[in-house]
Amino acid sequence: MSSGAGVADDGLAVSVRGLTKSYGGFDALVGVDLDVERGQILALLGPNGAGKTTTVEILEGYRRRDGGTVRVLGLDPGRDRTRLKPLVGIVLQSTGVEQYLTVTETVTLYSQCYPHPRPVGEVIERVGLAAKADARVKTLSGGQQRRLDMAVALAGDPELLFLDEPTTGFDPAARHEAWEVVKSLAELGKTILLTTHYMDEAQHLADRVAVIAGGRVIAEGTPDSLGERDRAQALIRFRLPDGMTPPVEAAPSARVDGWFELRADQPEAVLHRLTGWALDAGVTLEGLEVSRPSLEDVYLSLTAAPEARDRR
Ligand code: ATP
Repeated sequence: MSSGAGVADDGLAVSVRGLTKSYGGFDALVGVDLDVERGQILALLGPNGAGKTTTVEILEGYRRRDGGTVRVLGLDPGRDRTRLKPLVGIVLQSTGVEQYLTVTETVTLYSQCYPHPRPVGEVIERVGLAAKADARVKTLSGGQQRRLDMAVALAGDPELLFLDEPTTGFDPAARHEAWEVVKSLAELGKTILLTTHYMDEAQHLADRVAVIAGGRVIAEGTPDSLGERDRAQALIRFRLPDGMTPPVEAAPSARVDGWFELRADQPEAVLHRLTGWALDAGVTLEGLEVSRPSLEDVYLSLTAAPEARDRR
């Protein structure tokens, strides 16, 4: 760890209670409660206008809050922004790095602003830009520029990284590569708070997810347990040849758009009976699949209430 300055003893990198913020007469945040444990990746999800950017900018010290308590690495970003700055790295959606510098020159420039920078070569290697170390920024692809943004944020060896929609606009391969970079930052022990609209990104990267809607956190948990998703019934689906129906004792199923569907708390037992019947009867269960609600399913149902939707 680069520096223990200001770090709270309770293992939390971020602790927010009752955070409020109004713009004119509009209540953008109405009491946000949020914890991020040190060394964890937290994904902040939420519909447009939910209050994610407002929350993150308050944590970064770039926006004033109206009420509530906020501790970031043991500091109050509203009062201790100067002390907080070297401990935090920020990757915004668009950054203004100088286009005519090389990758190495850019990272070096930012390193010099910090008391305990990481070695420049190591930072460039870590974000996967070693082959482009001497390339000018303007020649980098969009995905490579995003990696450079991460290198810049990592240059000062911060304890906490804020990543704002880190893969928006990426092709699928670039997105997976960026995820590897984010994971490698987490492996360094960094705490990462990322905002994203991609549920697969949250599922893949996050230790925990928090859903903001209507200016407050409406759900929080691991990606697998959000909204009690892990306890939801499994959905079993299959097709059968025309005119065929499974016997009720094998699988009491409903027919939906040509598919037989049934829900089960314990799909193993149902599948045992169903596949046993199919084998005995010499029938193929076409397209057989077993699924539980995805993170996206849970997110959509959590944010479906009118007050949780677009407030822009
Ligand atoms: P998105 O996913 O679209 O980026 P968000 O969750 O980040 O949205 P915020 O940018 O925090 O949402 O905005 C929360 C609410 O506050 C929105 O209704 C927005 O219009 C409003 N808001 C944000 N900044 C200001 C401002 N400077 N002045 C007035 N209203 C603002």
